[in-house]
Amino acid sequence: MQVCATKSEFRRFLDDTRAAGRTVGLVPTMGALHAGHRSLMEAASAECDVVALTIFVNPLQFAPTEDLSKYPRPIERDLELAEAAGVGVVFTPTVEEMYPVPTATTVHLDGLTAPMEGAARPTHFDGVTTVVTKLFNIAGPCRAYFGEKDFQQLAVVRRMAADLDQPVEVVPSPIIREADGLAMSSRNIYLSIEDRAAALVLYRSLLAASELISAGERRASVVAAQLAADIASEPRAALEYAEVVDPLTLEPLDLLDVGTDVRLIVAARFATTRLLDNLGVRAS
Ligand code: AMP
Repeated sequence: MQVCATKSEFRRFLDDTRAAGRTVGLVPTMGALHAGHRSLMEAASAECDVVALTIFVNPLQFAPTEDLSKYPRPIERDLELAEAAGVGVVFTPTVEEMYPVPTATTVHLDGLTAPMEGAARPTHFDGVTTVVTKLFNIAGPCRAYFGEKDFQQLAVVRRMAADLDQPVEVVPSPIIREADGLAMSSRNIYLSIEDRAAALVLYRSLLAASELISAGERRASVVAAQLAADIASEPRAALEYAEVVDPLTLEPLDLLDVGTDVRLIVAARFATTRLLDNLGVRAS
C-alpha cells in the first residue's frame, strides 16, 4: 500500500493506474476508520482495480464551535485497517498541503443543502462540496464511494458531480450498524455509557416509523410526528429534526402513495454529540 502525503504523488499514482488500464475506486474519509468505512473500501475493491482512500479532517466543514481540534486522528491504526481492507493507495495530506493559501473559491449548491444538516450547520456543506471537488480534481476519473449514513451529503455530492460534469460516478453504500443497531460513526466514541445506550432510540424510532408506513399510514406528517415523539421520549436525546423525504430531492413528502420510496432521516444531540441516522422504506 502506497501512502502519499502530497497531491502531486497521489495524482501521479492514479494517473499511472489509469494509464495501465486499471480503474480507480475513491473512498473519501476523515479517518478514525470503522466497519462503516471498511464497507466502502470493500465495495470499491469489489468493483474497481485499485482502491484509493483519502484521510483528511477538513477544517472548512467544521464551524468554529464544533469538534475540529478533538476529532480523533488514529493514523497508524487507520493505515493498518486500510491495508487489511485491500487499499492500494492512501492520501493523507496536511491542512497546508490541501490549502496552501486560504481558498478564495467555494463550491456551493443550492436547494439540497438548505434543510436538515444545512439548516443546523450553515457553513458545513460549502466545506464538503469544496473539499470533495478538490479531491475529485486531484484523483481524476473514478468511481467514488459515499455512505448512506450521511444521506444528505450523498445526495449533495451526487448532484454536484452531475451539475459540474465531474468525471466521477458517485456510488452509494448502505449504513453499517453496531450489533445493537447504532449506526457506526467516528463520533460514537464521544458518547458516555448512558448516552451510548440512549442513542439506540434513533434506530428504534426509525424502525417503528417504517412499521407504521408498512401498516398503511399514508400521511407523512403523522409518520414524522411519531418519529419526533419517539426520539423526544428519550430524556437524554435533544431532537434536531425528524423528516420524511423524497430520497433524491430530499423534499418533505405529503402523501405516501403505494410504491413510493421514502427516506426517514433523523438527527439528535446526546450531550454535545450530534448523531445522524436514516432508513429507506417503500410504501406498500
Ligand atoms: P467520515 O469519515 O465520517 O467523513 O465518513 C466517510 C465516509 O464513510 C462517508 O461517505 C460516510 O457516509 C461513510 N460512513 C460513515 N459511517 C458509515 C456507516 N456507519 N455506514 C456506511 N458508511 C459510513
